[in-house]
Amino acid sequence: MVSKKSVSQASKLFIFTGPSGSGKTTIAENVLKKFKVFKRVVTYTTRAPREGEMDGVDYHFVSRKEFEELLKKDAFLEHAVVYENSYGSLVSEVKELLSNKKSVLFVINVQGALSIMKKFPESVVVFIKAPSIDVLRERLLKRGKDSIEIIKKRITSAKQELKLENKFKYVIVNDMRSLAIKKTEKIIRAELGL
Ligand code: 5GP
Repeated sequence: MVSKKSVSQASKLFIFTGPSGSGKTTIAENVLKKFKVFKRVVTYTTRAPREGEMDGVDYHFVSRKEFEELLKKDAFLEHAVVYENSYGSLVSEVKELLSNKKSVLFVINVQGALSIMKKFPESVVVFIKAPSIDVLRERLLKRGKDSIEIIKKRITSAKQELKLENKFKYVIVNDMRSLAIKKTEKIIRAELGL
């Protein structure tokens, strides 16, 4: 029998996914503060930093040329083009974290989550969504970080992504943020045997 202790010491791969604007990043930030066993995989992007974003913390911000060089070296576990920018995570970083007995947390789009699930079928995926498309649109508008054109694209993608939610083990409706965080923490405790 596997003891509670050995389960809790195991490193696991978690993925928070869902449409852009679903609040997955905020939930991830709370989880990372609470569960010290977690390390977030900082992904690479060619997107320009938004106000307040820090290189190496929110993303590794790289040029298209740098991204392409990493691609050529086959350095990415998965990569995707999202709203005209490239995003990807390094295989080496993920392997290192897992070998250091860290539980790894990815915060990525739905396509990326599906790719990683293929390579790591044991990964624990939490699909996070806004209570409705109208609420999602309102949140994206309030966030004020994207043009109307990009917001329209994000809404179109969200509608497609919502059709895939049944592929994931856990679905959380991010209506009240504090409640969504509590539900996510409960999932993590159960999965890590804490
Ligand atoms: P944003 O530009 O709003 O930070 O991110 C756009 C979308 O790309 C979000 O859903 C974000 O989670 C996702 N994303 C960030 N890094 C990666 C990655 O490495 N791979 C994939 N597939 N998606 C990512």
